[in-house]
Amino acid sequence: IVEYKDVYKSFGEVEVLKGLNLDIFPGEKVALIGPSGSGKTTIIRMLMTLEQPTSGEIIVDGTDLWHMKKNGKTIPANEKHLREVRGDIGMVFQHFNLFPHMTILENCMTAPIQVKKESKETARERSVEMLEKVGLGDKLDNYPSQLSGGQKQRVAMARALVMRPKIMLFDEVTSALDPELVGEVLEVIRDIAEEGEMAMVLVTHEMDFALEIADRVIFLDDGVIAEQGSASEVLEESDNERLQQFLYRFR
Ligand code: ATP
Repeated sequence: IVEYKDVYKSFGEVEVLKGLNLDIFPGEKVALIGPSGSGKTTIIRMLMTLEQPTSGEIIVDGTDLWHMKKNGKTIPANEKHLREVRGDIGMVFQHFNLFPHMTILENCMTAPIQVKKESKETARERSVEMLEKVGLGDKLDNYPSQLSGGQKQRVAMARALVMRPKIMLFDEVTSALDPELVGEVLEVIRDIAEEGEMAMVLVTHEMDFALEIADRVIFLDDGVIAEQGSASEVLEESDNERLQQFLYRFR
């Protein structure tokens, strides 16, 4: 459902990705791991159209995300094209990014109404359903400031799910949480993963969790995929030295 073809990304002088090739299949659960600064977040931000690749292609469900055709010529994608392709993608951030002046129900209803032009009633119904799914059916009229970090992160998940994405991106969604709140957030991710149909890409430092839910674990190092395979192949059986050094810190 997503294909990165020879993707390079630099920030000024710093070359973060050096020819990334990666296919993600429909429904596949992928965990991205690697040292700080290896480009994990950049990979998913490019898919969410928050960063533009320096070169290469990112294909989403058959459509080139960052380029479009006009009069037989390939030109850079405009905002409308990006918005259309991005419609299939949901993202949850490390720092929640909720709208502070809206209730949690309003946080969830905004995108379906504004982006998908759904009626208020439909958006409300679906938002309530998703908030119940993440265990917050009794907090609909609360504001984000009245919630714990774990609850805020669950709102962020409901807000993304309301859009029925084909792909969900999770950027270190537990790393800003107090340890006792991590479990409830992982629990929701586990539930979504078990439903199966959505592809999921998780940037995570939760190795045990990656081992449990990921169909594939990808180790990024020095701008490329240095190792990939099933969770047990990568986390337990690989003899890649850089990977061993990296994992040592979590054991
Ligand atoms: P971490 O685990 O620390 O979050 P990461 O693997 O997710 O790291 P990225 O956040 O993708 O890494 O960043 C890769 C590199 O790109 C880092 O060196 C970072 O400083 C740099 N970088 C990322 N975004 C920008 C930006 N907008 N401008 C300049 N440099 C950036």
